[in-house]
Formats: sequence, C-alpha cells, structure tokens
Amino acid sequence: MFDTTRSRRWSPWSSNQHLAQTGMSRVLIVEDEPAIAELIAMNLRHAGFDITLAASAEQAQSEVDRILPDLVILDWMLPGQSGLSLAKQWRAHSRTRELPIIMLTARAAETDKISGLDGGVDDYLTKPFSTQELLARIRAVLRRKRPESLDAAVEVDGLRIDPSTRRVTYGGQDVTLSPTEFRLLHFLMVHPERVYTRAQLLDCVWGDHVFIEERTVDVHVKRLREALSKVSCAGLVETVRGVGYRLI
Ligand code: CA
Repeated sequence: MFDTTRSRRWSPWSSNQHLAQTGMSRVLIVEDEPAIAELIAMNLRHAGFDITLAASAEQAQSEVDRILPDLVILDWMLPGQSGLSLAKQWRAHSRTRELPIIMLTARAAETDKISGLDGGVDDYLTKPFSTQELLARIRAVLRRKRPESLDAAVEVDGLRIDPSTRRVTYGGQDVTLSPTEFRLLHFLMVHPERVYTRAQLLDCVWGDHVFIEERTVDVHVKRLREALSKVSCAGLVETVRGVGYRLI
C-alpha cells in the first residue's frame, strides 16, 4: 500500500499539461489512513506531482532525511508522534525550516486551527475537503515558497524554456525533452554562466540526499545535448573539464 521505494520517484513523468502548474514538485503525503492517503496520492499523481507516502511521523522523518520534498501534506492525528509535533520539529531544524507544510485534520475547532498555524504550518485543511481545493492550496503554497521555480519563462540566446506550458522552443521550433532533461535545462538556464559539479546538479535537479551515481548526470547531459542539437543549441551546455557543467 505504501510505496516508498525510490524507483517511483525516478519514474519518467507522463506528458501531462498539469505538470506545468506544479513545476513537477515532489509531495510527501503523511497520512495513516490508507484509503485517504491513496485517494490524495492518486489525485496528486494525476495532477502531475511526484508522490511519496508515509504512514507515521517516523516514516515521514526518514523520507525527509532521504530526500527533501517540495511540500508535505501532513495529517494531524497520526499514531505515535502527532503531525503538529512533527511540523514543530521540522521548523526547529535548518534543513527543514522552510519546508512547505499543509496540515490535514478532522479537527475543525478554531483554536486547533490557530495552534496548527502557530506550529508553523503554511496552510490548513479540514477533512472532508475537495481535491480541487487541496490542489489549489498546494499551488498557492508552492507559489509563495518557490516563485522562481514555477511559472517564469527563461530565454537564453533564443532558446526559451517555459515551465508554465512545459515547452522548450527555439525560433518557433519545439524541443522535446524528458522531464529530467527539462528540469536540468531549466536549472542551468536559470543559473547561466555558473559552473556546477555533478554532485551539485544531483542535489539541485534530482533533489538532495539522493544516492545515485554522478555519471547519471553525464547521461542526461548527453541526452539533453542530443535534443538541443536538433535546433543547433547543443553548444549551450558546456563541459568544464574536471569540474562539471555550465550553460553559456
Ligand atoms: Ca489520521
């Protein structure tokens, strides 16, 4: 039921127009009721989010230790440590201080809402809630937290990448990229001229605390160049010998 294997995280994204709205964000769902967890997961996957599930605060912590998600949907009432206590714990650590959290709970009392927000959560949703409302709130929280990584189109030397439409174009021609190559190109285009090591690219593009081989980066750079060569832009991604890569 709770698929917390790494393979799911790396599975290729289906071509989905909703991806653009999420910036292909990773969402950790912390919910001990399997039916609710699966329902939320199914809807978020359909909307293009990359989902990891945890059924307890302990599981959630180990997921966060492994890969910092872009957002956490956190149930208040969990077996053992409560969601609110976990949120406070995350807020007390530098690595997780800015982690966007939307708290879910059956508690509707105003005082609970206030203590939830005081605990540092970014938003609060009372069960039962509509999926549409949850999605809208996720987008709103992500927009507030990471405005640079969401909608803004970037153009370098005529090559244009637009996360809001998930399109890469050059002189009106479309460049087809896999989700990973899209993310890699977007990252490099947002940070032109800077040299990044393979380890830095793994952290920034694949997510931190990820244990995959650095040559994976080379494979994706190679594919990215192949795709860009179709519009004569392969030279934009430069290899800096002995260091890593940069966009020029
Ligand atoms: Ca619960």
